[in-house]
Amino acid sequence: MMGRLVERAQLFYEFSLERHMPAEHLLRRLDAALDLSWLRAELAPFYSAIGRPSIDPELMIRMLLVGYCYGVRSERRLCDEVHLNLGYRWFCRLGLDGAVPDHSTFSKARHGRFREAEVFRRVFERVVGACMGVGLVGGEGFAIDASVIEADASYAQRVEGPTLPPERADPASATRPVREYLAALDVAAARVAGAVDGMDGQDQPERLAAEPAPAKSLSLTDPAAAWTSKGARKASFAYAVNYLVDLKRAIIVDTQASPARWTEEVATTALMIERTRERFGLQPSRLAADSAYGSGRLVGWLMARGIEPHVPLLDRVTQTKGVLTRAAFTFDRERDVYICPAGHELATSGHVAAAGFRQYRAKPTACGPCALKPRCTSGVARLIGRNVHEDEREHVRQIAGTPAFKRSTRERRKVEMLFAHLKRNLGLRRLRLRGPTGAGDEFLLAATAQNLRRLARSLAAPPPASATAPA
Ligand code: SF4
Repeated sequence: MMGRLVERAQLFYEFSLERHMPAEHLLRRLDAALDLSWLRAELAPFYSAIGRPSIDPELMIRMLLVGYCYGVRSERRLCDEVHLNLGYRWFCRLGLDGAVPDHSTFSKARHGRFREAEVFRRVFERVVGACMGVGLVGGEGFAIDASVIEADASYAQRVEGPTLPPERADPASATRPVREYLAALDVAAARVAGAVDGMDGQDQPERLAAEPAPAKSLSLTDPAAAWTSKGARKASFAYAVNYLVDLKRAIIVDTQASPARWTEEVATTALMIERTRERFGLQPSRLAADSAYGSGRLVGWLMARGIEPHVPLLDRVTQTKGVLTRAAFTFDRERDVYICPAGHELATSGHVAAAGFRQYRAKPTACGPCALKPRCTSGVARLIGRNVHEDEREHVRQIAGTPAFKRSTRERRKVEMLFAHLKRNLGLRRLRLRGPTGAGDEFLLAATAQNLRRLARSLAAPPPASATAPA
């Protein structure tokens, strides 16, 4: 006989959230992995000692982490979900009757105390510290990469050219993302002025890539986002999420938002490696990256710090158009000259161009009558550029086929898998928050959620002893 559900109204219920949470539920494992006991003490200086009590910051952090773990990034929707979902209520310590805060509370806290206290970065770093505590971080090999995430800026708000209209650039009436953009321009101008004035650069962040060319178009709503077709089906304004990942168990040890431009992505490498060393005392012995990071400047910077660059070089040896490549010339290190196939010297004045190249020039009197000239140069005399870090680049060429280099190339895919998980499972394809700090907040929360899931899984099923033993 077919049964029928009969709704029975009871006057009293005895209900325990704790009893109804399955023992193996992801939220239970996340809760066991997450320690926020330090949060109130660190945030205390940012709250007044008197007045009406605020919403508990731990509740907001727990709600945001639930949202990023389950792909609910809209704060309005998150409040509805937490209100209705018993599992979310349990994780947020709300009980059955606890009031869910209004969604506007999150934006107020984000732009106020949370930003002043850098609370999202503190939470991220505590989770990385917990991963280190259980042996998920080896510290021996890191990988770096970036992925494009569309900004919350529409095509309709696009203006041609590298500058904002004056009425939009007035700091008195500008929106927060525009003020952030103007402040970043001031910092960049100060850096250039410092270089011109002969500052030694010790108080300036080191750039591992050239200054980007002026933007061809800007967004009026989020001018710091870059107009790009990279990684997207159609051109759009976008930021890059940069991940520095420990290769042992793919734990993200640092993340940074940058405009989605190649030069900006490479320039974040120094910032993230230095920050990881300062915060966690971690410095890898090798760094795996794709060829976008294969510039001489970055290779030289890494080797100066004892980090082996397992990075394919940016070499244009195949783009020769039938012309004799530099490989046909022999470098005489002692005399600091190149010897051409016809036996003539190419000497240098020692001047280093802005791109980091020293030029070596043949004598016009040697090239003029030379039989090889049609294959060598279309100019008066052959010119060769030598990267100031050519010795380091040569070292990378020598190690390119070694087993360690090949292993790094394989392991580098762990970063790509994290980006795939970020977009497919956590739904982070388009940003909700604007400006570099908004993008940074979203990337920190997403990276925290990814690390936390990995930590929770590891605590539930500890890796075998051989996996945690030092290599
Ligand atoms: S063209 Fe000049 S640099 Fe080239 S092979 Fe002849 S002499 Fe040497």
